[in-house]
Amino acid sequence: MTEQTATKESLGPQDAQLIDRYQDVHMHVFGKPLRVMDHGQGTRVWDVDGREYMDFLAGIAVNSLGYAHPAWVKAVSQQAARLAHTSNYFASRPQIELADRLIHLSGAPAGSRVYFGNSGAEANEAALKLARLYGRTLPGADADGTEGEPARILALTQGFHGRTMGALSATWKPAIREPFEPLLPAVDFVPAGDPAAMEQAFAAGDRRGPVAAVILELIQGEAGVRPLGADYVRQVRDLCDRHRALLIIDEVQTGIGRTGQWFAFQREDLAGGVRPDIVSFAKGVAGGFPMGGIIAFGQELSDLFTPGSHGSTFAGNPLGAAAALATLDAIEAEGLLANAEERGQQLRQGLEACGNRLFVGSRGRGLLDAVQLAHPCAHAAMEWCLDRGLIVNAVAPDALRFAPPLIVTAQDIEQGLAILADLPTDLPDD
Ligand SMILES: *Cc1c(COP(=O)(O)O)cnc(C)c1O
Repeated sequence: MTEQTATKESLGPQDAQLIDRYQDVHMHVFGKPLRVMDHGQGTRVWDVDGREYMDFLAGIAVNSLGYAHPAWVKAVSQQAARLAHTSNYFASRPQIELADRLIHLSGAPAGSRVYFGNSGAEANEAALKLARLYGRTLPGADADGTEGEPARILALTQGFHGRTMGALSATWKPAIREPFEPLLPAVDFVPAGDPAAMEQAFAAGDRRGPVAAVILELIQGEAGVRPLGADYVRQVRDLCDRHRALLIIDEVQTGIGRTGQWFAFQREDLAGGVRPDIVSFAKGVAGGFPMGGIIAFGQELSDLFTPGSHGSTFAGNPLGAAAALATLDAIEAEGLLANAEERGQQLRQGLEACGNRLFVGSRGRGLLDAVQLAHPCAHAAMEWCLDRGLIVNAVAPDALRFAPPLIVTAQDIEQGLAILADLPTDLPDD
């Protein structure tokens, strides 16, 4: 994410005062908050000065059911009153049921297992650790970690996998990665979307050691909502198969209904029928409760983690599991996969049809979308929309990202489009 700034004039008095207090006591890793939010309902959220916003970002693809969804609130309240946390010395019904449901929804084969964590970065940490153990089983690899470098991880340029040291090692953007080097050794970046480059990266195995895994997003979210393309993903899968490498699909942003399927890899037009070996998920899974995890496809891979290999105090916590179950239930009961598909089409078509010359193309699937801007004024555009009561995201200097709650209605989309259609074409560049 790029630096966010708030225009003082557009802020109410409570907002301005609280933002100053925020700035005094928080490390400035996120840039200045745009507003201080107070409460939400459905697709709307209100700031501390009582101003209403239509939310086309949903806490960055997190609030799948919008705000204060009655079934979600009920499930979380009841679980909080019953059993919030146990540690992993104990299990709980919601945790077991959630693991079962996610394996089923992913179509993973019998014997597949879940590991739960608490965020996207943590999910990818687990994926990378599992891949490291897998790499030690490959011929030509350093089998016990005592000699030389481990089997490699291949990551893509423009990819984003999180901010912890492991996940950051596979995150492309030099400005956020390089200050923290040295990171994990044996992570090679490969130009995204270029099958020949991927083939070369595998071939470098003669010098650089075997490849344990390729990690990629089917739609590179933080890079500006850029689908890799089904043909490319199929070619990468073939290379992984030929070289016995794992394919890790990072669905932290795309997973759990966001693209109109439970997982984006279930979309033929994103993955061409390819299955991952490991899929990571987080953002939208628990509808606003911090939760994430991975599914390892197949028992052999799942069994590489043994007691002591990995863990987290909060992992699979019953409160988070109940929030996730309520989210999955509502997605099913309210037909939100189909809604994501239809509302996404409505949004992209509306952007194309509205005639605003600032827009030079739209992209995305389901409710993970972006519009390409004619010049790099995304920040000014985002603030202009915010001042008119619409939350959108300046994902790149020349692109706006949209990730509305999956419950968004046709009327909501119309309302958002009406604001977007009026965006001035002469906004200042970033
Ligand atoms: C957001 C995101 C992450 C990191 O998730 P956190 O919960 O912020 O740690 C990882 N991968 C992808 C694709 C993401 O969009």
